[in-house]
Amino acid sequence: MPGGLLLFNLQNNFMSFTDIALHPSVSKALADQGYSKATAIQQQAIPVVLAKKDVLGCAQTGTGKTAAFLVPILQMLLEDKSVQQHYIKALILAPTRELALQIAENTQSLSIHTAIRHAVLFGGVSQQPQVNKLKVGVDILIATPGRLKDLMNQGLVSLKQVRYLVLDEADRMLDMGFIHDVKRIIRHIPADRQTLFFSATMPSDILELAHLLLRNPVKIQITPAATAAEQVTQYVYFSEKQQKPSLLLNLLGSQASETVIVFTKMKHIADKLSRFLNKEGIRADAIHGNKSQLQRQTALERFKHRRTRVLVATDIAARGIDVDKLGYVINYDLPQTAETYIHRIGRTGRAGSAGTAISMCSQEEKPLLAEIQKLIKRTITVAGIPGYSQKN
Ligand code: AMP
Repeated sequence: MPGGLLLFNLQNNFMSFTDIALHPSVSKALADQGYSKATAIQQQAIPVVLAKKDVLGCAQTGTGKTAAFLVPILQMLLEDKSVQQHYIKALILAPTRELALQIAENTQSLSIHTAIRHAVLFGGVSQQPQVNKLKVGVDILIATPGRLKDLMNQGLVSLKQVRYLVLDEADRMLDMGFIHDVKRIIRHIPADRQTLFFSATMPSDILELAHLLLRNPVKIQITPAATAAEQVTQYVYFSEKQQKPSLLLNLLGSQASETVIVFTKMKHIADKLSRFLNKEGIRADAIHGNKSQLQRQTALERFKHRRTRVLVATDIAARGIDVDKLGYVINYDLPQTAETYIHRIGRTGRAGSAGTAISMCSQEEKPLLAEIQKLIKRTITVAGIPGYSQKN
């Protein structure tokens, strides 16, 4: 069956996963997940990766990017006879624990019918369970740069046989100051590897890094502005700062059954809002950079299982959060950069399903709103609730 892949014209994008000859265990896992139609990035990236080319992908989380690199990597590992021996053949670097865990979850579900093993490394927790997992032998390693570098320094990880390297959310990796760790790690990986490089934005320092790591990459771009603007219904409520808490309550009241992510730009506001909502009888948790790993994970689990209705999050903590069928995103504060707005609203309306993003905009935030509208090339519909709205 895997040989059937040769029959598939790699020049052509495919629409459905049944159009390409994937290993039966991968096809079965895709079917288990309910994925039939491939997303745009999957249609473009999978044939290119299977053709063993490097990829420079401009796409954000929420586009189906994870399966776009995992499906072909699993396929190639399964085609390889060494699949029976468990040593690290693929390394996936991610900037945050949350994203690393999500990639690990996807790896788990897509490799469930295979003998392929994986492990995930991230900091802020004891290293011993992670080391124990590595000692048993894994094929795919998913890691944040800091913890991986620590374990490499202790001689506990060897990357000498890595053939596939994925850098996910490279721009965030740079933002978080991981550039030196990333470069140091990559020096330990054989040069004749295949590299897949993904970033939501492509500023010049990212392009420089890409140039250093990639060989004749195929460029794939999934325009976030278009995706967000097309898939997410967006509204803006003009509201004075001090009216925002009660406007939020009102909005949550009108969508009684929905789980919602509320974005704030400051950690202390996230905490304050979460306390306020709980006091008002709406179950909420806050996640941000000052919360411990355990607190963040617990909050995310509670939210995913709908034990809380609202997750109040700051941008860094929320980047990459993947919660199935999230209907609503509320911007309690407008973000400082228009691109962050696109990342935020990308938490809803994922992989083709509809979603709604509501922004609260105070007088002093109006220039930010103008920037956002310029970037998404449309005017966001103004909505209002009597008593809360302010003249625009
Ligand atoms: P990602 O960008 O990898 O974080 O994926 C975003 C979301 O889309 C996740 O919830 C995936 O489970 C989902 N997803 C990925 N690929 C597909 C697909 N082909 N069809 C439907 N949902 C998908």
